[in-house]
Amino acid sequence: MKYEGLLERINWLIRLRWIALTGVILTVFVVQKVVRLSLPFFPLYLIPILIGLYNSAFFLYTRHIWKKQPEDIETRAIVFANLQIGLDLLSLTALIHFSGGIENPFIFYFIFHMIIASILLSRRASFLQATFTACLFVSMAGLEYFNILGHHCLKGFVVNDLYMNKVYILGTSFVFITTLYLAAYMASSISVKLRLREKSLKEANLLLEEKDRIKSEYVLRVTHDIKEHISAIQSCIDPVAEGMLGELNPGQKDLIRRAGTRTSKLIFFIKALLEITRIKLSRDIEMKDFSIVKTAENAIILVDPRAKAKSIYMSRRIDAGVDIIKGAQVYIEETIANLLANSVKYTPKGGKVEITIEDKDGSVLIRISDNGIGIPKKELPYIFNEFYRASNAKELERDGTGLGLSMAKQVVERHNGRIWVDSEEGRGSTFSIMLPKK
Ligand code: ADP
Repeated sequence: MKYEGLLERINWLIRLRWIALTGVILTVFVVQKVVRLSLPFFPLYLIPILIGLYNSAFFLYTRHIWKKQPEDIETRAIVFANLQIGLDLLSLTALIHFSGGIENPFIFYFIFHMIIASILLSRRASFLQATFTACLFVSMAGLEYFNILGHHCLKGFVVNDLYMNKVYILGTSFVFITTLYLAAYMASSISVKLRLREKSLKEANLLLEEKDRIKSEYVLRVTHDIKEHISAIQSCIDPVAEGMLGELNPGQKDLIRRAGTRTSKLIFFIKALLEITRIKLSRDIEMKDFSIVKTAENAIILVDPRAKAKSIYMSRRIDAGVDIIKGAQVYIEETIANLLANSVKYTPKGGKVEITIEDKDGSVLIRISDNGIGIPKKELPYIFNEFYRASNAKELERDGTGLGLSMAKQVVERHNGRIWVDSEEGRGSTFSIMLPKK
């Protein structure tokens, strides 16, 4: 959608205008107090104030169209951008008129407006804005020349009254107008190319997403089939292992036990793969209000037996203010449980695991820290990739899918949140999740 980029650029222009008007006020102040030129300072201060007023109105209006998203948003955004640039050009012409007119070297600041117009608008519209600028400029110079508008001379800066000098007016107008059109042409050529590049990148991205979806659907189907067969194998192994089909000799028992363990591990892996693929494929996950504190408590209860078995001390620190957030409770609980289970798994006996939950303006920050084996620095960038397991983790613990963290990442990103890790090998890790409350 074209207007999305346009609204972003409009927001940028509004922010830029605050900087520009501060610059204008400072320049006028310096001209008045330091350079001490005699100029009509009342309008020179009034114009930036007016710019500030219309900029505030523009700011409020952008909020309004973002929120309401009316059907004709694209047309409105284009008109809105043209209006803003038009008003800026009028304001600059007024500023220039009250500070020397055609004699003021700041006339070349119109070029910035041409560049801005080319970034925001189509090539045709930026040429129209260049024509509007040329008309404003010629009218200002003409009206001052014919004394219809009073001229405010930059005494002490310009020696002669150049605004009455025909050759100077014609020469300056010629250079000024050709510069305007050249600037509009060059800037719009670059910006048209960039916009096309942006569009093709977006299309390529959509194509990649589609391919990824097809791949996930394929994985889902295959994994589902494999799961059914493995479950059938397990249901054959179990009665044999339990001796329901007659007593087994020690060799048979050992082989059946090993087959049973491998099958359970495989089922665990397949379930994780199925789950992550389902999350990826589900376009919308149901979001409801739930208590993050209770959810964290549930996750702690789930992992507690494993921590106790390794004599790991698990503590919690929860801000009094945090409680209800909006999201998919089951997924968040699973994510916290996964991270806690990892901390227990990768922390030697007698270690410590801590979960903290804090309020962070509009979001909650959940941290799970341990003083375990940590993650080697050069492996940190890959830790959230599917199937990735760090070298030290593989040495310590043979079993692992490498899917837990990528699942956590999927879940958190689906909530418009962020997950990251700080870790030092041999000293421990802290996994942090930032989740918006709404
Ligand atoms: P798994 O634990 O099954 O290997 P995960 O996706 O949960 O898979 O984790 C991926 C890898 O991240 C782990 O193999 C391990 O290398 C590293 N990791 C995760 N949590 C921790 C932790 N608390 N301490 C050290 N390493 C961790």
